Amino acid sequence: MIVNLRQTLTATKPALARHALLGLYASGAHRLAPASVRGMGAIFMLHRVREPDDTDFAPNRILEITPDYLDALLGHVRARGLVCLSLDEAVTRIAVGDTSERFVVFTLDDGYKDNLTVAAPIFARHSAPFTVYLATSLPDGTAELWWVVLERIIASANELRVRFADGEETFTSRSVADKKAAWDAIYWRLRAMGEPALRAEVRRLAGAHSVNIAAVTHELAMSWDELRTLAANPYASIEAHTASHIALAQISGEEASNDIAKGLARHEAELGRRPQHFSYPYGDPTSAGTRDFEIAKSFGFRSATTTRKGLIRSAHAQNLTHLPRLSLNGDYQDLRILDVLMSGLPFAMAKAMGSSGID
Ligand SMILES: [Zn+2]
Repeated sequence: MIVNLRQTLTATKPALARHALLGLYASGAHRLAPASVRGMGAIFMLHRVREPDDTDFAPNRILEITPDYLDALLGHVRARGLVCLSLDEAVTRIAVGDTSERFVVFTLDDGYKDNLTVAAPIFARHSAPFTVYLATSLPDGTAELWWVVLERIIASANELRVRFADGEETFTSRSVADKKAAWDAIYWRLRAMGEPALRAEVRRLAGAHSVNIAAVTHELAMSWDELRTLAANPYASIEAHTASHIALAQISGEEASNDIAKGLARHEAELGRRPQHFSYPYGDPTSAGTRDFEIAKSFGFRSATTTRKGLIRSAHAQNLTHLPRLSLNGDYQDLRILDVLMSGLPFAMAKAMGSSGID
């Protein structure tokens, strides 16, 4: 079981990790985890909050939670004695080593409209602060939400021809099962091409299948006016997530710096405040590495977060530009999983086994 847990915690498919974490919950071992592995707290990562639609083919549902789950989650963390801090306050406590209270921080990436219309009222009802990491190309209308665009292409097409680095391949996508299989086959192969090539191919496919990329952005992203409304919400803070939402590790250092700088300039021009905190797009090791942590440091951010899994520990005072987060999206929507993760046990076990996927 231990070997299995290591594999599943670092797996790319969340469903596998979910299975292992629920197994750990059933064992009850997390209740016996020593205080030394529990850490100072956690930074949670969310994206969209909305009622699920009735579509069977919805691979990006892994980036969503329901309003009811957010409501339950906020009640649950308080019941467990955890304090909800703003990101800024949490970073201060990490920096000075204040372990007086275990904390959680809620962050939502990208800048989706439902963060304002659905999530913000729920956070306010619980008097809980939250941070939106904004990629400024979303309100600018120039973002390429290629993962949503790809989903729409496969949803509408009966067949599609994808040009990978090693040649063109045809996929049938008539039934829901076909569409799911096509998504699984296409998604990671496109990711492996690197983001500039991936985007070029999704752009080409969108043209071929009449999916309007700008319309998708307009439908899902907050406008600058909506962001100003959000900025006036006393529980909300808006921080940086680049301009174009590109995987920084897959472009040159100069391009990466320019994209962060462009995002900061747009943010400051529209919202009148320079962000103090940053989150790396995608945030996994193939998307943000040591070079990018140094770039973030050069901008003077108080903190920067990845999507590497882990709790916040005292040692992170030395690593404020690559703080781990816990995804609560999609398949992780289960309060039992939250309890297991917050025990620190899965991370301590993975570390003991030399896993590099969790830090
Ligand atoms: Zn993002």
